[in-house]
Amino acid sequence: MNHSSKRIAIIGAGPGGLTLARVLQTAGYNPVVYEGEASRYERQQGGTLDLETDSGQKALQAAGLLEAFHQVCRFEGQSGKIVDKSGKVYHEDTADEVPDADHYSRPEIDRTVLRDLLLDSLRPDTIQWGYKCSEAIPVGDRQFELHFDNGKMDVVDLVVAADGAFSRIRPLVSEAKAEYSGVSMIELNILDAANRSPELAAFNGPGSVYALDDRKGIMAQMNGDGRIRVYLGFQAERDFLESVDIPYDDLEKAKPKLLALFADWSDELQNYITSANGVITPRRIYMLPVPHTWESRSGVTLIGDAAHLMSPFAGAGANLAMLDGAELALSIINNEDLDTAVRQYELKMFEYAGATAAETKANMELFFSDNAAAKLGELMRSYAEQ
Ligand SMILES: Cc1cc2nc3c(=O)[nH]c(=O)nc-3n(C[C@H](O)[C@H](O)[C@H](O)COP(=O)(O)OP(=O)(O)OC[C@H]3O[C@@H](n4cnc5c(N)ncnc54)[C@H](O)[C@@H]3O)c2cc1C
Repeated sequence: MNHSSKRIAIIGAGPGGLTLARVLQTAGYNPVVYEGEASRYERQQGGTLDLETDSGQKALQAAGLLEAFHQVCRFEGQSGKIVDKSGKVYHEDTADEVPDADHYSRPEIDRTVLRDLLLDSLRPDTIQWGYKCSEAIPVGDRQFELHFDNGKMDVVDLVVAADGAFSRIRPLVSEAKAEYSGVSMIELNILDAANRSPELAAFNGPGSVYALDDRKGIMAQMNGDGRIRVYLGFQAERDFLESVDIPYDDLEKAKPKLLALFADWSDELQNYITSANGVITPRRIYMLPVPHTWESRSGVTLIGDAAHLMSPFAGAGANLAMLDGAELALSIINNEDLDTAVRQYELKMFEYAGATAAETKANMELFFSDNAAAKLGELMRSYAEQ
């Protein structure tokens, strides 16, 4: 039986929700995506993502978008180095030795480019912009009535929470809450790096630099739009970002305070702070318990960060969100019964996402441990040998 006549609502137009919508749509379904933001332009989507062969790229394959991705991704973005605060290199992948599309690879793509790729692949009426879901109320045993901040309502056969870290739908199946991970970040931007900070651009190269020491980090990534996005990371108490007294709205006044936090780091690394010329954004990093599972419930499920929010220290969140979207869509397409489809997806997802969440948690602890650069260098070598 094809249940393409069932009303499927996806809450959230992030990488997870959009992949789900696309795979369903290519199989003749008509899902609706309700997105709280007013348009695709409302918010800067953030940094660059590396999409892995067996998760993000696998999802794009299911969505029929892998070739289009290969046209716009940056294979050279896989290059990078791991250093300590003195600049000593513990591991390096140069741009001319990174894998291409024919090999196991993790090419980079800016979030905006990825989101546009997915949005443009959907029929224009798929996304309902400006629909922030405030509540989902059960109707009988199987349906949900969705309420939105704009006063609108919908009754659906399946509501999929793709609404990220602080999901409004998650409480329907789980009591778990996103908790502070113990890591805080301050994001800096160096716009037009090649022209405005050529020395730093040369040091950084077309990929990433991970400088780790003293339970802190300077983690920098070249983005497709020519900016270097920098995350200053700290293992810290929950109130660190306020207590450190950085004027986040005044970059020039913030710089000396930021430099003081990295006072004995090499000049090349301090240059990431000195050269900053864009906005500063403080970010507390949250995560869900590891593993996070729930009893399947008719008419509702979770994908992406709503299901398994984790810190960014394995670069896995968006990859998994997309894989979830593809797996759930394929399960719906291949099963006669919607409840069975949801349950099968959940069991499969709990396994792969649970493993990745545990790996991510271990990575986070490693990044902020003693001799972190040496340990991460060793880990990267062990991955390369697998
Ligand atoms: C600093 C940082 C760096 C990261 N780096 C990487 C990386 O390199 N690689 C990687 O794979 N992952 C990375 N991640 C993780 C990645 O960003 C997330 O895992 C991913 O975006 C999750 O996708 P999603 O579709 O589940 O949710 P989101 O991308 O959070 O999308 C949720 C969508 O739902 C909408 N929404 C929210 N609430 C509502 C509501 N009530 N009603 C309607 N709409 C709503 C939001 O506006 C948004 O559009 C990083 C995260 C951070 C914080």
